[in-house]
Amino acid sequence: MTSGGEYGGRRETIARGLAQLDMDALLVSHLPNIRYLTGFTGSNALLLVTRLDSFLFTDPRYDLQARRETSCRVTIARHPILAAAAKLIARRRFRSVGVDPARLTMATHGFLKEKLPTCELKPVADLVEALRMVKSGAEIDRIRRSVTTNSKALAQALRRFKPAMRESDLAAEIDYQMRRLGAEQPSFETIVASGARAALPHARPGNAAIEANQLLLIDMGATQDGYTSDMTRTVGVGRVPTEWRRRYQAVLEAQLAAIDAVRPGVPASLPDRAARGVLTRHGLEKTFTHSTGHGLGLEIHEAPRLGRKEKIRLQAGMVITIEPGIYLEGKGGIRIEDTVLVTAGGCEVLTPTSKDLAVL
Ligand code: ZN
Ligand code: ZN
Repeated sequence: MTSGGEYGGRRETIARGLAQLDMDALLVSHLPNIRYLTGFTGSNALLLVTRLDSFLFTDPRYDLQARRETSCRVTIARHPILAAAAKLIARRRFRSVGVDPARLTMATHGFLKEKLPTCELKPVADLVEALRMVKSGAEIDRIRRSVTTNSKALAQALRRFKPAMRESDLAAEIDYQMRRLGAEQPSFETIVASGARAALPHARPGNAAIEANQLLLIDMGATQDGYTSDMTRTVGVGRVPTEWRRRYQAVLEAQLAAIDAVRPGVPASLPDRAARGVLTRHGLEKTFTHSTGHGLGLEIHEAPRLGRKEKIRLQAGMVITIEPGIYLEGKGGIRIEDTVLVTAGGCEVLTPTSKDLAVL
């Protein structure tokens, strides 16, 4: 449990920002942002942060839970919670309320405009996301637990690997092991892709048997206490052809170079540039078709993005992935991914799983 203080402190930071933005309140609709600001874990809520206090709106299913989980004022609405939030905004005669345009549907926007004709709905993007980018000590502890569970789950699932096992069965085994180890759920649909199917960066596990003498790509995350982790390992099955061993070493070299580039103050594009530089030397740059990584936390994809054009600078306390990969159409793919914490002195690779090419 985190103290109410951690959440209260985050709401105070938002409240202080409201004055600078010339807004009376911020209406938060994205559930991970609401969880971040209140601790509430239910599936239906709105949060109104005003300069003085905060109100959580939810429905009767979450009455007890909301009061237990949060220290802000809870309003249980029997009608749509949006109507309850609009009523409060009207009662307080707020002139200007911030909303996140990326999270608000046209229907919600239309409803608010109709109910609050004199209130300006100000689009403010990523206010909460900017705070979420740098993790607190308590959040880092949770991510560490999630990462540990994820790595243990992979080790236990691979121990149960059998020749000609189906991709979907191995994926199910991985998910089962995660749950046994304390995860609430996978952070995303577990990817198990063998042979040529690994050329699709986001392949779904299929019913195909995992054949020998090729590579097997596994990408997985274990959400625990609400926090995600993310790891990809590419392992060999049977005898791995020499050309694929060589390509594996090239991706590993790129991944290590990117990790080497992670430190506070550098642009988020620097690790990406380092990984691309190595793959270019190996003639593989055109096969690296995505960015080098992304932030993670309450969600599996958060800011910052570690792309080629990213200008944002890394800061101690950010948790990011480093995951270069190569994809050869019709032949196969390799990706190696760790979850990495940016520290004052550089970075710490949180993922404990070995990156030597394992062969099953
Ligand atoms: Zn991943
Ligand atoms: Zn990832």
